[in-house]
Amino acid sequence: MKTQTSTPVKTKNKLPGRPISKTPLVSPLKSNGQKQKTDMDENDQTDMSERDKTKGSLKESEIRYRRLFESAKDGILILNATTGQINDVNPFLTDLLGYSHDELMGKKLWEIGFFKDEEANRAAFKELQEKKYIRYEELPLETKQGGHVEVEFVSNVYQANGSKVIQCNIRDISGRKQDKIHLEKINEELSVLVETLQTRDRDMKMIHQMNDLLQACKTLEEAFKVIGMACKDLFSGYSGGMAVLHDSGQFLETLTSWGPTPLLEDVFALEDCWAMRRGQEHEVTDPEVNMLCNHFTSPPKEGYLCLPMVVQAEMLGLFHLETPTGMSDDQAVNWKQKAVTVSEGVKISLSNLKLREIMHRQANHDTLTGLFNRRYLEDTLPRELNQAHRKNDPTSIAMLDIDHFKKFNDTYGHEAGDLILREMGHLFQESLRKSDIACRYGGEEFVIVLFDSTQKESLKRFETIRERINSLQLRYRDQLLGRMTVSIGIAEAIDNNMTSEELVAAADKALYAAKSAGRDCIIVFSELEQDKK
Ligand code: GH3
Ligand code: MG
Ligand code: MG
Repeated sequence: MKTQTSTPVKTKNKLPGRPISKTPLVSPLKSNGQKQKTDMDENDQTDMSERDKTKGSLKESEIRYRRLFESAKDGILILNATTGQINDVNPFLTDLLGYSHDELMGKKLWEIGFFKDEEANRAAFKELQEKKYIRYEELPLETKQGGHVEVEFVSNVYQANGSKVIQCNIRDISGRKQDKIHLEKINEELSVLVETLQTRDRDMKMIHQMNDLLQACKTLEEAFKVIGMACKDLFSGYSGGMAVLHDSGQFLETLTSWGPTPLLEDVFALEDCWAMRRGQEHEVTDPEVNMLCNHFTSPPKEGYLCLPMVVQAEMLGLFHLETPTGMSDDQAVNWKQKAVTVSEGVKISLSNLKLREIMHRQANHDTLTGLFNRRYLEDTLPRELNQAHRKNDPTSIAMLDIDHFKKFNDTYGHEAGDLILREMGHLFQESLRKSDIACRYGGEEFVIVLFDSTQKESLKRFETIRERINSLQLRYRDQLLGRMTVSIGIAEAIDNNMTSEELVAAADKALYAAKSAGRDCIIVFSELEQDKK
Protein backbone atom coordinates (compact mmCIF):
# COMPACT_ATOMS: atom_id res chain seq x y z
CA MET A 1 0.00 0.00 0.00
CA LYS A 2 1.25 3.42 -0.96
CA THR A 3 2.02 5.62 2.05
CA GLN A 4 1.04 9.21 2.17
CA THR A 5 2.74 11.74 4.38
CA SER A 6 0.42 14.33 5.68
CA THR A 7 0.89 17.94 6.68
CA PRO A 8 0.72 18.44 10.44
CA VAL A 9 -2.69 19.53 11.63
CA LYS A 10 -2.91 23.21 12.33
CA THR A 11 -6.65 23.72 12.44
CA LYS A 12 -8.92 23.17 15.42
CA ASN A 13 -12.42 21.86 15.72
CA LYS A 14 -15.09 22.72 18.29
CA LEU A 15 -16.06 19.10 18.76
CA PRO A 16 -13.35 16.63 19.57
CA GLY A 17 -13.35 13.79 17.08
CA ARG A 18 -15.28 15.65 14.38
CA PRO A 19 -13.49 15.73 11.06
CA ILE A 20 -11.36 18.71 10.27
CA SER A 21 -9.54 19.61 7.11
CA LYS A 22 -5.98 20.62 6.64
CA THR A 23 -6.14 23.79 4.64
CA PRO A 24 -9.47 25.35 3.86
CA LEU A 25 -11.19 24.46 7.09
CA VAL A 26 -10.98 27.45 9.39
CA SER A 27 -10.42 26.87 13.08
CA PRO A 28 -13.61 27.60 14.98
CA LEU A 29 -11.46 29.14 17.68
CA LYS A 30 -10.00 31.61 15.23
CA SER A 31 -13.26 32.44 13.59
CA ASN A 32 -15.35 33.01 16.67
CA GLY A 33 -13.87 36.54 16.95
CA GLN A 34 -13.54 36.41 20.75
CA LYS A 35 -11.36 39.17 22.25
CA GLN A 36 -8.21 37.85 24.03
CA LYS A 37 -7.56 39.18 27.53
CA THR A 38 -4.11 40.52 28.32
CA ASP A 39 -4.46 41.52 32.04
CA MET A 40 -3.15 38.82 34.27
CA ASP A 41 -5.05 38.92 37.53
CA GLU A 42 -5.60 35.79 39.61
CA ASN A 43 -8.88 35.06 38.03
CA ASP A 44 -7.36 35.73 34.67
CA GLN A 45 -4.59 33.33 35.49
CA THR A 46 -7.12 30.70 36.43
CA ASP A 47 -8.97 31.44 33.15
CA MET A 48 -5.73 31.17 31.25
CA SER A 49 -4.82 27.84 32.70
CA GLU A 50 -8.39 26.58 32.03
CA ARG A 51 -8.11 27.86 28.47
CA ASP A 52 -4.67 26.30 28.07
CA LYS A 53 -6.13 23.04 29.28
CA THR A 54 -8.97 23.29 26.78
CA LYS A 55 -6.52 24.22 24.05
CA GLY A 56 -4.35 21.29 25.03
CA SER A 57 -7.20 18.82 24.99
CA LEU A 58 -8.44 20.20 21.65
CA LYS A 59 -4.98 19.75 20.22
CA GLU A 60 -4.89 16.25 21.55
CA SER A 61 -8.22 15.36 19.96
CA GLU A 62 -7.10 16.92 16.70
CA ILE A 63 -4.00 14.77 16.73
CA ARG A 64 -6.11 11.74 17.60
CA TYR A 65 -8.51 12.54 14.77
CA ARG A 66 -5.65 13.10 12.35
CA ARG A 67 -4.14 9.78 13.28
CA LEU A 68 -7.45 8.07 12.69
CA PHE A 69 -7.89 9.97 9.41
CA GLU A 70 -4.45 8.92 8.22
CA SER A 71 -4.62 5.31 9.27
CA ALA A 72 -8.30 4.61 8.53
CA LYS A 73 -9.04 1.48 6.56
CA ASP A 74 -11.86 3.32 4.80
CA GLY A 75 -11.49 6.18 2.38
CA ILE A 76 -12.37 9.64 3.74
CA LEU A 77 -12.96 12.61 1.49
CA ILE A 78 -13.71 16.09 2.81
CA LEU A 79 -15.35 18.46 0.33
CA ASN A 80 -16.18 22.11 0.54
CA ALA A 81 -19.96 21.91 0.40
CA THR A 82 -20.24 25.16 -1.52
CA THR A 83 -17.50 24.90 -4.09
CA GLY A 84 -17.11 21.14 -4.37
CA GLN A 85 -13.35 21.46 -3.85
CA ILE A 86 -11.57 18.66 -2.13
CA ASN A 87 -10.42 19.90 1.24
CA ASP A 88 -8.82 16.71 2.35
CA VAL A 89 -8.43 13.09 1.36
CA ASN A 90 -6.91 10.28 3.36
CA PRO A 91 -4.16 7.92 2.18
CA PHE A 92 -6.53 4.96 1.98
CA LEU A 93 -8.66 6.67 -0.67
CA THR A 94 -5.72 7.98 -2.71
CA ASP A 95 -4.29 4.45 -2.73
CA LEU A 96 -7.65 2.96 -3.60
CA LEU A 97 -8.21 5.24 -6.55
CA GLY A 98 -4.57 5.46 -7.69
CA TYR A 99 -4.10 9.22 -7.25
CA SER A 100 -1.48 11.06 -5.26
CA HIS A 101 -2.61 13.30 -2.43
CA ASP A 102 -1.58 16.43 -4.36
CA GLU A 103 -3.42 15.36 -7.49
CA LEU A 104 -6.66 15.50 -5.55
CA MET A 105 -6.21 18.38 -3.16
CA GLY A 106 -8.00 21.55 -4.18
CA LYS A 107 -9.61 19.86 -7.20
CA LYS A 108 -13.35 20.00 -7.69
CA LEU A 109 -15.20 16.75 -7.51
CA TRP A 110 -16.15 16.85 -11.19
CA GLU A 111 -12.56 17.50 -12.28
CA ILE A 112 -11.58 13.98 -11.34
CA GLY A 113 -13.24 11.01 -12.80
CA PHE A 114 -14.56 9.21 -9.73
CA PHE A 115 -17.89 9.05 -11.35
CA LYS A 116 -18.55 8.25 -15.01
CA ASP A 117 -18.03 11.69 -16.52
CA GLU A 118 -18.00 15.37 -15.60
CA GLU A 119 -21.76 15.64 -15.81
CA ALA A 120 -22.19 12.65 -13.57
CA ASN A 121 -19.63 14.13 -11.17
CA ARG A 122 -21.49 17.44 -11.02
CA ALA A 123 -24.77 15.64 -10.50
CA ALA A 124 -23.22 13.58 -7.73
CA PHE A 125 -21.94 16.68 -6.02
CA LYS A 126 -25.31 18.41 -6.34
CA GLU A 127 -26.94 15.43 -4.72
CA LEU A 128 -24.39 15.49 -1.92
CA GLN A 129 -25.03 19.20 -1.43
CA GLU A 130 -28.80 18.87 -1.33
CA LYS A 131 -29.18 15.85 0.81
CA LYS A 132 -27.66 15.91 4.26
CA TYR A 133 -27.09 12.20 4.23
CA ILE A 134 -26.52 9.90 1.32
CA ARG A 135 -25.75 6.23 1.33
CA TYR A 136 -24.99 4.01 -1.62
CA GLU A 137 -24.58 0.36 -0.82
CA GLU A 138 -22.79 -0.43 -4.02
CA LEU A 139 -21.23 2.38 -6.03
CA PRO A 140 -18.62 1.86 -8.75
CA LEU A 141 -15.88 4.48 -8.57
CA GLU A 142 -13.45 4.95 -11.39
CA THR A 143 -9.73 4.80 -10.59
CA LYS A 144 -7.12 6.96 -12.23
CA GLN A 145 -6.12 3.96 -14.37
CA GLY A 146 -9.67 3.62 -15.63
CA GLY A 147 -10.52 0.57 -13.54
CA HIS A 148 -13.47 0.27 -11.22
CA VAL A 149 -13.71 -0.21 -7.50
CA GLU A 150 -16.99 -1.15 -5.85
CA VAL A 151 -17.51 0.95 -2.75
CA GLU A 152 -20.06 1.58 -0.08
CA PHE A 153 -20.48 5.35 -0.02
CA VAL A 154 -21.83 7.39 2.89
CA SER A 155 -21.80 11.17 3.01
CA ASN A 156 -22.74 13.69 5.70
CA VAL A 157 -22.97 17.45 5.48
CA TYR A 158 -22.10 19.46 8.52
CA GLN A 159 -20.77 22.82 9.66
CA ALA A 160 -17.11 23.06 10.55
CA ASN A 161 -15.32 26.22 11.44
CA GLY A 162 -18.13 28.30 10.07
CA SER A 163 -18.27 26.63 6.69
CA LYS A 164 -20.29 23.71 5.33
CA VAL A 165 -18.33 20.57 4.56
CA ILE A 166 -19.28 17.24 3.11
CA GLN A 167 -17.56 14.25 4.56
CA CYS A 168 -17.63 11.16 2.38
CA ASN A 169 -16.79 7.81 3.92
CA ILE A 170 -15.87 5.33 1.27
CA ARG A 171 -15.53 1.61 2.02
CA ASP A 172 -13.90 -0.73 -0.45
CA ILE A 173 -16.36 -3.61 -0.87
CA SER A 174 -14.78 -5.27 -3.90
CA GLY A 175 -13.71 -8.15 -1.63
CA ARG A 176 -17.23 -8.35 -0.23
CA LYS A 177 -18.59 -8.23 -3.78
CA GLN A 178 -16.22 -11.01 -4.83
CA ASP A 179 -17.35 -13.04 -1.82
CA LYS A 180 -20.96 -12.37 -2.82
CA ILE A 181 -20.31 -13.49 -6.39
CA HIS A 182 -18.46 -16.55 -5.09
CA LEU A 183 -21.32 -17.29 -2.71
CA GLU A 184 -23.85 -16.89 -5.50
CA LYS A 185 -21.83 -19.33 -7.62
CA ILE A 186 -21.69 -21.82 -4.76
CA ASN A 187 -25.44 -21.40 -4.25
CA GLU A 188 -26.05 -21.98 -7.93
CA GLU A 189 -23.90 -25.13 -7.85
CA LEU A 190 -25.73 -26.28 -4.74
CA SER A 191 -29.10 -25.73 -6.42
CA VAL A 192 -27.94 -27.81 -9.40
CA LEU A 193 -26.74 -30.51 -7.01
CA VAL A 194 -30.00 -30.48 -5.07
CA GLU A 195 -31.94 -30.70 -8.33
CA THR A 196 -29.77 -33.60 -9.51
CA LEU A 197 -30.30 -35.38 -6.19
CA GLN A 198 -34.05 -34.77 -6.32
CA THR A 199 -34.21 -36.10 -9.89
CA ARG A 200 -32.16 -39.12 -8.90
CA ASP A 201 -34.39 -39.72 -5.89
CA ARG A 202 -37.50 -39.45 -8.07
CA ASP A 203 -35.93 -41.83 -10.62
CA MET A 204 -35.01 -44.35 -7.95
CA LYS A 205 -38.58 -44.27 -6.61
CA MET A 206 -39.91 -44.85 -10.12
CA ILE A 207 -37.47 -47.71 -10.69
CA HIS A 208 -38.52 -49.31 -7.39
CA GLN A 209 -42.15 -48.88 -8.33
CA MET A 210 -41.51 -50.47 -11.72
CA ASN A 211 -39.64 -53.40 -10.14
CA ASP A 212 -42.49 -53.86 -7.63
CA LEU A 213 -45.04 -53.98 -10.44
CA LEU A 214 -42.84 -56.38 -12.41
CA GLN A 215 -42.78 -58.71 -9.41
CA ALA A 216 -46.56 -58.83 -9.54
CA CYS A 217 -46.75 -59.47 -13.31
CA LYS A 218 -48.00 -62.89 -14.30
CA THR A 219 -47.09 -62.83 -17.96
CA LEU A 220 -44.30 -61.39 -20.09
CA GLU A 221 -46.93 -59.39 -21.95
CA GLU A 222 -47.95 -57.62 -18.73
CA ALA A 223 -44.29 -57.07 -17.84
CA PHE A 224 -43.50 -55.36 -21.13
CA LYS A 225 -46.45 -53.04 -20.70
CA VAL A 226 -45.09 -52.00 -17.27
CA ILE A 227 -41.55 -51.54 -18.65
CA GLY A 228 -42.74 -49.42 -21.59
CA MET A 229 -44.77 -47.10 -19.37
CA ALA A 230 -42.04 -46.71 -16.73
CA CYS A 231 -39.29 -46.04 -19.28
CA LYS A 232 -41.41 -43.41 -21.02
CA ASP A 233 -41.37 -41.45 -17.73
CA LEU A 234 -37.82 -42.32 -16.68
CA PHE A 235 -36.28 -41.29 -20.00
CA SER A 236 -38.84 -38.65 -20.79
CA GLY A 237 -38.50 -37.15 -24.28
CA TYR A 238 -36.11 -39.84 -25.50
CA SER A 239 -36.87 -43.02 -27.38
CA GLY A 240 -35.90 -46.54 -26.55
CA GLY A 241 -37.07 -50.11 -26.63
CA MET A 242 -36.53 -53.64 -25.49
CA ALA A 243 -36.13 -56.69 -27.66
CA VAL A 244 -36.13 -60.28 -26.45
CA LEU A 245 -34.20 -63.17 -27.89
CA HIS A 246 -36.56 -65.70 -29.45
CA ASP A 247 -36.53 -69.23 -28.01
CA SER A 248 -34.79 -70.38 -31.18
CA GLY A 249 -31.88 -68.08 -30.24
CA GLN A 250 -31.78 -66.88 -33.86
CA PHE A 251 -33.47 -63.49 -33.74
CA LEU A 252 -34.78 -60.77 -31.43
CA GLU A 253 -38.34 -59.48 -31.22
CA THR A 254 -39.02 -55.93 -30.07
CA LEU A 255 -41.66 -56.34 -27.38
CA THR A 256 -41.85 -52.80 -26.05
CA SER A 257 -40.74 -49.36 -27.17
CA TRP A 258 -41.26 -45.82 -25.87
CA GLY A 259 -40.54 -42.19 -26.66
CA PRO A 260 -41.28 -39.91 -29.62
CA THR A 261 -39.47 -41.87 -32.36
CA PRO A 262 -38.82 -45.51 -31.48
CA LEU A 263 -36.29 -46.83 -33.96
CA LEU A 264 -35.95 -50.53 -33.19
CA GLU A 265 -37.04 -52.95 -35.93
CA ASP A 266 -39.84 -55.35 -34.87
CA VAL A 267 -37.64 -58.34 -35.60
CA PHE A 268 -33.89 -58.40 -36.18
CA ALA A 269 -30.97 -60.78 -36.15
CA LEU A 270 -28.54 -61.15 -33.28
CA GLU A 271 -25.75 -60.03 -35.61
CA ASP A 272 -27.51 -56.73 -36.27
CA CYS A 273 -26.56 -55.47 -32.81
CA TRP A 274 -22.96 -54.85 -31.77
CA ALA A 275 -23.90 -55.22 -28.11
CA MET A 276 -25.57 -58.61 -28.71
CA ARG A 277 -22.69 -59.81 -30.85
CA ARG A 278 -20.03 -58.92 -28.30
CA GLY A 279 -22.07 -59.52 -25.17
CA GLN A 280 -21.17 -56.05 -23.85
CA GLU A 281 -22.60 -52.53 -23.99
CA HIS A 282 -22.30 -50.61 -27.22
CA GLU A 283 -22.35 -46.85 -26.93
CA VAL A 284 -22.59 -44.47 -29.86
CA THR A 285 -21.81 -40.86 -28.99
CA ASP A 286 -21.57 -39.61 -32.57
CA PRO A 287 -23.47 -41.48 -35.30
CA GLU A 288 -21.10 -40.01 -37.91
CA VAL A 289 -18.05 -41.50 -36.25
CA ASN A 290 -19.03 -44.64 -34.30
CA MET A 291 -20.06 -48.06 -35.65
CA LEU A 292 -23.84 -48.18 -35.94
CA CYS A 293 -25.99 -51.22 -35.26
CA ASN A 294 -28.21 -52.54 -38.00
CA HIS A 295 -31.49 -52.84 -36.14
CA PHE A 296 -33.03 -49.44 -36.85
CA THR A 297 -36.02 -48.53 -38.97
CA SER A 298 -34.05 -45.42 -40.03
CA PRO A 299 -30.46 -44.40 -39.25
CA PRO A 300 -30.19 -42.80 -35.79
CA LYS A 301 -29.37 -39.09 -35.82
CA GLU A 302 -28.34 -38.95 -32.15
CA GLY A 303 -26.12 -41.07 -29.94
CA TYR A 304 -27.51 -44.21 -28.33
CA LEU A 305 -26.78 -46.99 -25.93
CA CYS A 306 -27.35 -50.74 -26.40
CA LEU A 307 -27.14 -52.89 -23.29
CA PRO A 308 -27.25 -56.67 -23.65
CA MET A 309 -29.35 -58.34 -20.96
CA VAL A 310 -27.61 -61.48 -19.74
CA VAL A 311 -28.68 -63.58 -16.76
CA GLN A 312 -26.46 -66.45 -15.61
CA ALA A 313 -24.69 -66.55 -18.96
CA GLU A 314 -28.03 -66.77 -20.75
CA MET A 315 -28.69 -64.01 -23.27
CA LEU A 316 -32.18 -62.64 -22.65
CA GLY A 317 -32.36 -59.65 -24.94
CA LEU A 318 -31.46 -56.05 -25.59
CA PHE A 319 -32.14 -52.74 -23.85
CA HIS A 320 -31.82 -49.86 -26.31
CA LEU A 321 -31.88 -46.15 -25.42
CA GLU A 322 -31.35 -42.90 -27.29
CA THR A 323 -28.92 -40.54 -25.46
CA PRO A 324 -29.40 -36.76 -25.23
CA THR A 325 -26.77 -34.56 -26.84
CA GLY A 326 -24.86 -31.81 -25.05
CA MET A 327 -24.84 -33.44 -21.61
CA SER A 328 -22.10 -32.58 -19.12
CA ASP A 329 -19.80 -35.44 -18.12
CA ASP A 330 -21.72 -35.85 -14.86
CA GLN A 331 -25.07 -35.89 -16.62
CA ALA A 332 -23.81 -38.46 -19.15
CA VAL A 333 -22.60 -40.72 -16.32
CA ASN A 334 -25.96 -40.37 -14.52
CA TRP A 335 -27.94 -41.10 -17.69
CA LYS A 336 -25.95 -44.23 -18.38
CA GLN A 337 -26.13 -45.33 -14.76
CA LYS A 338 -29.89 -44.95 -14.84
CA ALA A 339 -30.13 -47.02 -18.03
CA VAL A 340 -27.95 -49.74 -16.48
CA THR A 341 -30.01 -49.76 -13.24
CA VAL A 342 -33.26 -50.08 -15.20
CA SER A 343 -31.97 -52.83 -17.48
CA GLU A 344 -30.51 -54.75 -14.50
CA GLY A 345 -33.86 -54.67 -12.65
CA VAL A 346 -35.80 -55.52 -15.77
CA LYS A 347 -33.64 -58.45 -16.78
CA ILE A 348 -33.94 -60.14 -13.38
CA SER A 349 -37.73 -59.79 -13.45
CA LEU A 350 -37.92 -60.99 -17.04
CA SER A 351 -35.72 -63.95 -16.32
CA ASN A 352 -37.96 -64.90 -13.36
CA LEU A 353 -41.07 -64.44 -15.45
CA LYS A 354 -39.66 -66.45 -18.30
CA LEU A 355 -38.78 -69.24 -15.87
CA ARG A 356 -42.25 -69.01 -14.36
CA GLU A 357 -43.83 -69.19 -17.80
CA ILE A 358 -41.72 -72.21 -18.73
CA MET A 359 -42.70 -73.94 -15.48
CA HIS A 360 -46.31 -72.98 -15.95
CA ARG A 361 -46.21 -74.28 -19.49
CA GLN A 362 -44.57 -77.51 -18.40
CA ALA A 363 -47.21 -77.99 -15.71
CA ASN A 364 -50.10 -77.44 -18.11
CA HIS A 365 -48.88 -78.82 -21.39
CA ASP A 366 -48.17 -82.17 -22.87
CA THR A 367 -44.58 -82.23 -24.04
CA LEU A 368 -45.12 -84.61 -26.98
CA THR A 369 -47.99 -82.79 -28.72
CA GLY A 370 -47.65 -79.26 -27.30
CA LEU A 371 -51.37 -79.39 -26.42
CA PHE A 372 -52.79 -78.72 -22.95
CA ASN A 373 -52.77 -81.72 -20.61
CA ARG A 374 -55.59 -83.35 -18.65
CA ARG A 375 -54.67 -81.46 -15.48
CA TYR A 376 -55.13 -78.13 -17.24
CA LEU A 377 -58.50 -79.21 -18.58
CA GLU A 378 -59.68 -80.33 -15.16
CA ASP A 379 -58.49 -77.03 -13.66
CA THR A 380 -60.00 -74.71 -16.23
CA LEU A 381 -63.11 -76.46 -17.58
CA PRO A 382 -65.30 -75.89 -14.46
CA ARG A 383 -64.44 -72.17 -14.47
CA GLU A 384 -64.95 -71.76 -18.22
CA LEU A 385 -68.25 -73.63 -18.10
CA ASN A 386 -69.46 -71.48 -15.26
CA GLN A 387 -68.73 -68.37 -17.30
CA ALA A 388 -70.42 -69.84 -20.41
CA HIS A 389 -73.50 -70.70 -18.31
CA ARG A 390 -73.69 -67.13 -17.00
CA LYS A 391 -73.39 -65.68 -20.48
CA ASN A 392 -75.55 -68.47 -21.91
CA ASP A 393 -72.89 -69.10 -24.53
CA PRO A 394 -73.25 -72.46 -26.30
CA THR A 395 -70.28 -74.71 -25.44
CA SER A 396 -69.46 -78.10 -26.90
CA ILE A 397 -66.97 -80.71 -25.91
CA ALA A 398 -65.61 -83.50 -28.07
CA MET A 399 -63.75 -86.62 -27.05
CA LEU A 400 -61.67 -87.99 -29.86
CA ASP A 401 -59.80 -91.31 -30.03
CA ILE A 402 -57.52 -92.60 -32.79
CA ASP A 403 -58.89 -95.83 -34.22
CA HIS A 404 -56.72 -98.94 -33.94
CA PHE A 405 -53.76 -96.89 -32.83
CA LYS A 406 -52.15 -99.92 -31.31
CA LYS A 407 -51.78 -101.32 -34.80
CA PHE A 408 -49.70 -98.32 -35.91
CA ASN A 409 -47.40 -98.86 -32.98
CA ASP A 410 -47.17 -102.51 -33.68
CA THR A 411 -46.60 -102.05 -37.42
CA TYR A 412 -44.29 -99.01 -37.59
CA GLY A 413 -42.89 -98.81 -34.08
CA HIS A 414 -43.52 -96.61 -31.04
CA GLU A 415 -41.64 -93.63 -32.55
CA ALA A 416 -43.92 -93.69 -35.59
CA GLY A 417 -46.84 -93.69 -33.11
CA ASP A 418 -45.31 -90.61 -31.42
CA LEU A 419 -45.02 -88.90 -34.78
CA ILE A 420 -48.74 -89.48 -35.40
CA LEU A 421 -49.59 -87.99 -31.98
CA ARG A 422 -47.39 -84.91 -32.69
CA GLU A 423 -49.05 -84.44 -36.09
CA MET A 424 -52.46 -84.62 -34.42
CA GLY A 425 -51.32 -81.80 -32.12
CA HIS A 426 -50.34 -79.63 -35.12
CA LEU A 427 -53.59 -80.37 -36.88
CA PHE A 428 -55.70 -79.35 -33.88
CA GLN A 429 -53.72 -76.14 -33.34
CA GLU A 430 -54.17 -75.20 -36.99
CA SER A 431 -57.88 -76.05 -37.11
CA LEU A 432 -59.02 -74.44 -33.86
CA ARG A 433 -59.49 -70.89 -32.64
CA LYS A 434 -57.22 -69.42 -29.96
CA SER A 435 -60.10 -69.36 -27.51
CA ASP A 436 -60.78 -73.11 -27.92
CA ILE A 437 -59.07 -75.66 -25.73
CA ALA A 438 -57.34 -78.70 -27.25
CA CYS A 439 -55.94 -81.18 -24.79
CA ARG A 440 -54.30 -84.58 -24.83
CA TYR A 441 -56.48 -86.40 -22.38
CA GLY A 442 -54.30 -89.50 -22.27
CA GLY A 443 -52.67 -92.02 -24.69
CA GLU A 444 -54.27 -91.45 -28.09
CA GLU A 445 -57.33 -89.71 -26.66
CA PHE A 446 -58.00 -85.99 -27.02
CA VAL A 447 -60.60 -83.61 -25.58
CA ILE A 448 -61.51 -80.46 -27.46
CA VAL A 449 -63.69 -77.66 -26.04
CA LEU A 450 -65.34 -75.27 -28.44
CA PHE A 451 -66.69 -72.07 -26.92
CA ASP A 452 -69.40 -69.91 -28.38
CA SER A 453 -70.31 -72.68 -30.83
CA THR A 454 -73.72 -74.37 -31.10
CA GLN A 455 -73.97 -78.14 -31.30
CA LYS A 456 -74.71 -77.89 -35.00
CA GLU A 457 -71.72 -75.67 -35.69
CA SER A 458 -69.51 -77.89 -33.54
CA LEU A 459 -70.62 -80.99 -35.43
CA LYS A 460 -69.71 -79.32 -38.68
CA ARG A 461 -66.28 -78.28 -37.44
CA PHE A 462 -65.51 -81.76 -36.07
CA GLU A 463 -66.60 -83.31 -39.38
CA THR A 464 -63.98 -81.14 -41.08
CA ILE A 465 -61.36 -82.22 -38.55
CA ARG A 466 -62.28 -85.88 -38.99
CA GLU A 467 -61.96 -85.54 -42.76
CA ARG A 468 -58.60 -83.78 -42.48
CA ILE A 469 -57.32 -86.62 -40.29
CA ASN A 470 -58.55 -89.13 -42.88
CA SER A 471 -56.60 -87.42 -45.59
CA LEU A 472 -53.35 -87.10 -43.60
CA GLN A 473 -50.46 -88.76 -45.36
CA LEU A 474 -47.69 -89.23 -42.87
CA ARG A 475 -44.24 -90.60 -43.48
CA TYR A 476 -41.96 -92.14 -40.96
CA ARG A 477 -38.42 -92.92 -42.17
CA ASP A 478 -39.48 -93.08 -45.80
CA GLN A 479 -42.41 -95.30 -44.94
CA LEU A 480 -45.84 -94.01 -45.74
CA LEU A 481 -48.06 -94.70 -42.73
CA GLY A 482 -51.49 -96.10 -43.52
CA ARG A 483 -54.73 -94.15 -43.52
CA MET A 484 -55.81 -92.90 -40.13
CA THR A 485 -59.31 -92.55 -38.74
CA VAL A 486 -60.76 -91.22 -35.53
CA SER A 487 -63.96 -91.75 -33.57
CA ILE A 488 -65.55 -88.69 -31.96
CA GLY A 489 -68.18 -88.22 -29.25
CA ILE A 490 -69.76 -84.78 -28.81
CA ALA A 491 -71.77 -83.33 -25.92
CA GLU A 492 -73.34 -79.87 -25.51
CA ALA A 493 -73.03 -78.29 -22.08
CA ILE A 494 -75.44 -75.38 -21.81
CA ASP A 495 -78.63 -76.86 -23.29
CA ASN A 496 -78.17 -79.93 -21.10
CA ASN A 497 -77.12 -77.89 -18.06
CA MET A 498 -74.15 -80.16 -17.38
CA THR A 499 -71.24 -79.84 -14.99
CA SER A 500 -67.72 -80.37 -16.35
CA GLU A 501 -67.54 -83.99 -15.08
CA GLU A 502 -70.96 -84.78 -16.52
CA LEU A 503 -69.95 -83.18 -19.80
CA VAL A 504 -66.72 -85.23 -20.11
CA ALA A 505 -68.58 -88.38 -19.16
CA ALA A 506 -71.28 -87.64 -21.78
CA ALA A 507 -68.69 -87.08 -24.51
CA ASP A 508 -66.95 -90.31 -23.43
CA LYS A 509 -70.24 -92.16 -23.71
CA ALA A 510 -70.82 -90.75 -27.20
CA LEU A 511 -67.26 -91.74 -28.18
CA TYR A 512 -67.86 -95.28 -26.96
CA ALA A 513 -70.99 -95.32 -29.09
CA ALA A 514 -68.99 -94.09 -32.10
CA LYS A 515 -66.50 -96.93 -31.61
CA SER A 516 -69.39 -99.39 -31.34
CA ALA A 517 -70.92 -97.92 -34.46
CA GLY A 518 -67.85 -99.01 -36.44
CA ARG A 519 -65.37 -96.16 -35.78
CA ASP A 520 -64.43 -93.27 -38.15
CA CYS A 521 -67.61 -91.42 -37.22
CA ILE A 522 -69.10 -88.82 -34.87
CA ILE A 523 -71.89 -89.45 -32.36
CA VAL A 524 -73.71 -86.63 -30.54
CA PHE A 525 -74.63 -87.44 -26.94
CA SER A 526 -78.10 -85.82 -27.02
CA GLU A 527 -79.06 -87.83 -30.11
CA LEU A 528 -77.84 -90.95 -28.38
CA GLU A 529 -80.13 -90.21 -25.45
CA GLN A 530 -83.06 -89.52 -27.77
CA ASP A 531 -82.53 -92.86 -29.54
CA LYS A 532 -82.75 -94.55 -26.16
CA LYS A 533 -86.15 -93.02 -25.60
P1 GH3 B 1 -59.48 -98.41 -30.53
O1 GH3 B 1 -59.82 -98.17 -31.93
O2 GH3 B 1 -60.47 -99.28 -29.82
O3 GH3 B 1 -59.25 -97.13 -29.77
O4 GH3 B 1 -58.15 -99.20 -30.52
P2 GH3 B 1 -56.75 -98.65 -30.09
O5 GH3 B 1 -55.74 -99.65 -30.52
O6 GH3 B 1 -56.57 -97.33 -30.58
O7 GH3 B 1 -56.90 -98.63 -28.53
P3 GH3 B 1 -56.10 -99.32 -27.42
O8 GH3 B 1 -56.58 -98.72 -26.13
O9 GH3 B 1 -56.20 -100.79 -27.54
O10 GH3 B 1 -54.59 -98.94 -27.63
C1 GH3 B 1 -54.06 -97.66 -27.40
C2 GH3 B 1 -52.60 -97.71 -27.62
O11 GH3 B 1 -52.02 -96.45 -27.59
C3 GH3 B 1 -51.89 -98.51 -26.59
C4 GH3 B 1 -50.69 -97.70 -26.20
O12 GH3 B 1 -49.48 -98.41 -26.29
C5 GH3 B 1 -50.66 -96.62 -27.19
N1 GH3 B 1 -50.13 -95.41 -26.65
C6 GH3 B 1 -50.55 -94.72 -25.55
N2 GH3 B 1 -49.76 -93.62 -25.35
C7 GH3 B 1 -48.80 -93.62 -26.33
C8 GH3 B 1 -47.72 -92.78 -26.64
O13 GH3 B 1 -47.47 -91.79 -25.98
N3 GH3 B 1 -46.97 -93.08 -27.73
C9 GH3 B 1 -47.23 -94.17 -28.50
N4 GH3 B 1 -46.48 -94.40 -29.53
N5 GH3 B 1 -48.25 -94.99 -28.20
C10 GH3 B 1 -49.03 -94.74 -27.13
MG1 MG C 1 -57.79 -95.77 -29.81
MG1 MG D 1 -57.96 -95.08 -26.44
